[in-house]
Amino acid sequence: MEKKSHYRVIILGSGPAGLTAAIYAARANLEPLVVEGSQPGGQLTITTDVENYPGFPKGILGPELMEEFKKQAERFGTKTIFGDVTAVDLKSRPFQVVVGKDPYTCNALIVATGASAKLLGLESERKLMGYGVSACATCDGFFFKDKEVVVVGGGDTAMEESLFLTKFATKVTVIHRRDRLRASKIMQERAQKNPKISFVWDTLVEEIYGDPKDGGVKGVRLKNLKTGKSQDFECDGVFMAIGHEPNTKILAGQIEMDERGYIVTHNGTSTSVPGVFACGDVQDRIYRQAITAAGSGCMAAMDAERFLESQES
Ligand code: NDP
Repeated sequence: MEKKSHYRVIILGSGPAGLTAAIYAARANLEPLVVEGSQPGGQLTITTDVENYPGFPKGILGPELMEEFKKQAERFGTKTIFGDVTAVDLKSRPFQVVVGKDPYTCNALIVATGASAKLLGLESERKLMGYGVSACATCDGFFFKDKEVVVVGGGDTAMEESLFLTKFATKVTVIHRRDRLRASKIMQERAQKNPKISFVWDTLVEEIYGDPKDGGVKGVRLKNLKTGKSQDFECDGVFMAIGHEPNTKILAGQIEMDERGYIVTHNGTSTSVPGVFACGDVQDRIYRQAITAAGSGCMAAMDAERFLESQES
């Protein structure tokens, strides 16, 4: 049987935004294709408990929630394929999307590629990634049983990761570049009350010590930004929790983005290219919640449906 390669709607990304767009597009009989990306389910699949998604008063595990989203999308005829988009051509319609080596075309495109964890950009960080350096406590925390770790950052992610790491590590030290946390009050309080967590203020990590072939991370060099002094700090693991950047490289030069690479949307989820819609974290640098991503995914599907109606009638 010949593989279908043209779709009325293709959705890039399978987090809450992409899969909600799929549910709505599928229920509108648009038979969408979801390109899942290399991390199907998106960022929620690397968290544990989701406590703030309405409808789950006892909380739900992130991966479980995303599995339910996917089942719901498939129930109405969504097709999903695993893999990353390697090229996109938005210059003419139908738009072209290449997944691996397979070309697809579509009349409307919904971009829900989300965002990825930011890193410090140190050579040692790159070298030791997976050898004591991580950007996901819920993925790697288990490997730090009875060890001492540092968490870099002062936002909700840093607090959440620190709290999670106390389940395994004997000591968690939060390294923050200012003397005040950005995290919400409730998360700050939880972290500050935990006896295993301590804080180092006004400080940057300027180097990570260790050898991937010899037990990985051994420590970090910390620079106090107020005194300018540097000192070494022993630890077995370094968790980066310094925010995220949007996954938009594949679209560079083809669609309007802001200075940080987030897709600019107007009138709902419309972008600078008619027929291309964006939803979720890829266009949201402020709220970045599963529920807001899902809400904007619904909007994108409705916007795409209206666009297709206007083109096809
Ligand atoms: P944020 O952007 O909120 O915080 C990033 C932190 O990293 C800030 O403290 C920032 O410092 C610091 N930072 C940024 N760049 C660097 C750098 N180069 N070197 C050192 N430190 C750096 O990102 P989060 O991922 O924490 O949170 C993103 C969003 O997700 C927020 O809206 C948050 O509320 C939400 N969230 C909610 C959760 C929940 O409710 N359970 C859990 C996790 C996230 P500075 O403060 O100086 O800018």
